Amino acid sequence: MKNVVLLGATGSIGDSCLNVIRQNKEHFHLFGIGLGSNLDKAQQIAKEFSPEHIFIAESHLDKSHDLFQSHSNILNTENELQALIQDPSVDIVISAISGFAGLKASYFAIDAGKTILIANKESIVAAGDILMPLAQTKNSEIIPVDSEHNAIHQCFPPHRDLKEISKIMITASGGPFREKTFKELSGVTLQDALKHPTWSMGTKITIDSATLVNKCLELIEAHYLFQIPESQIEIVVHPQSIIHSMVTFIDGSTIAQMSNPNMEVPIANALGLDQRLPINFEVIDFPGLNLSFEPISDGRDVIFEMAREVCNKKGNLGVIFNASNEIAVDAFLTKKIDFVDIYQVIQRTFNHFSCSKVNTLDDIFDYDKQARIQAEKVIKSLN
Ligand code: NDP
Ligand code: MG
Repeated sequence: MKNVVLLGATGSIGDSCLNVIRQNKEHFHLFGIGLGSNLDKAQQIAKEFSPEHIFIAESHLDKSHDLFQSHSNILNTENELQALIQDPSVDIVISAISGFAGLKASYFAIDAGKTILIANKESIVAAGDILMPLAQTKNSEIIPVDSEHNAIHQCFPPHRDLKEISKIMITASGGPFREKTFKELSGVTLQDALKHPTWSMGTKITIDSATLVNKCLELIEAHYLFQIPESQIEIVVHPQSIIHSMVTFIDGSTIAQMSNPNMEVPIANALGLDQRLPINFEVIDFPGLNLSFEPISDGRDVIFEMAREVCNKKGNLGVIFNASNEIAVDAFLTKKIDFVDIYQVIQRTFNHFSCSKVNTLDDIFDYDKQARIQAEKVIKSLN
């Protein structure tokens, strides 16, 4: 029986994790959960899984909520979150908080040498320079949950010689605006952007998928997780979302991982560690399949150039890229800017900073703050 701490339990990835755990109850015990503010959902989870600990980030807790009647220990401070994640009885930490807010949790898990299942790609993008060396020192195993990275992990298991890889191909659905030219994006609405053609996900990543910034984050994530130069990572649009990524080896073989687009598949793989866990899944209808591939639509290349620069220069560039995107997405969600302005905010914020080395997690938080302030300034100048 493995003790699991699921951070982001009330979100979309949280739902999928709970479904996999529900189907494999004999292997996993939900030791703790973490969430932002959705107490109703936390209460449902507590009723079904009886976790020992529940961390709630929200600072103004409504103590009259029924959740406080549960037998779980309610935690609310960062020190308590750290103690939960680093508890010696915890075997697996799932990092599935959305955005930069998930970084501390990822850091606590890696610093304690835990096995961490990483969905929160923003942690790796913003702090890859700190987290990856720390994982090595602390012997923490980082297992990717993001479907593309989990696919690569399945095609190329850890501890193999990186020299065997010729190229990694990360697939992209292309999002809801795949068939639009860059010019045509100027008229799109928030509702249009929230309609993802193949995946059902949280709001922030759905917008990232529409802008294709999600693929930029994934390029950087792959570069850090697999220690592969960006020049060996290609992004290919694959609208059916059946192949989640491919690895081409130096002997000419290409291995692809395939499944219907359902996050329970990569989560089951990650949670299973070295074993295949049984889950209910929809079988791929191969005779009915028509798999196609195409390059990224024109006009969006500029954000990929920035992402490739992040991989090549590292330091503070990842945290700046990530923070500018988070501020831009927030502004778009609250209708302060148009969809195409997201690109402007990222580009102008990114170009404002020069590359500097980062040595500590505090440096990352410092650059995150500076980049957010700068991105807000860019937004003001647009209006
Ligand atoms: P959601 O928005 O659906 O869920 C976010 C979760 O994080 C919720 O449980 C939310 O709690 C919690 N949360 C937010 N802020 C805080 C905070 N400050 N402290 C603690 N908990 C917090 O997001 P997703 O599940 O879609 O995405 C989660 C992560 O997984 C993201 O990094 C995303 O990029 C990544 N990912 C998601 C995929 C998907 O299919 N959804 C695919 C691949 C990666 P509450 O709702 O209670 O406020
Ligand atoms: Mg992905």
